Amino acid sequence: MADCLFCKIVAGEIPSKKIYEDETVYVFEDIAPTAPVHYLVIPKAHISKLSDVTAENSAVISHIYEVIAKLSKENEAMKDGFRVVSNCGESAGQSVFHIHFHLLAGRPLTWPAG
Ligand code: IMP
Repeated sequence: MADCLFCKIVAGEIPSKKIYEDETVYVFEDIAPTAPVHYLVIPKAHISKLSDVTAENSAVISHIYEVIAKLSKENEAMKDGFRVVSNCGESAGQSVFHIHFHLLAGRPLTWPAG
């Protein structure tokens, strides 16, 4: 999508600190981390937000969770636990409208979230 920040990151037009990449998923460090591990896990193909997931495009969402599980086994900071968050819509705090999953770990994570 032409004007999408995360599509530009996937295309390499905007630099990012890559953690993982395969055919359909890209993982990179959040530019303003809120935990020692703060990755953004995104599908390469543009989906704006969680409420736009359908039977036609949901395979990549399932794959995203496989990738997260794989990363959790490889990263010592994730061994004791981690959190996955996807804000959907402005009132939930979504600021970039390319679906993304915040992957947070490396410090005690309190609940409920604010
Ligand atoms: P949201 O607020 O849930 O939509 O999350 C968007 C996230 O993208 C925020 O945590 C931002 O810090 C992060 N972000 C914004 N621009 C960039 C960038 O250029 N590189 C990496 N992360 C970014």
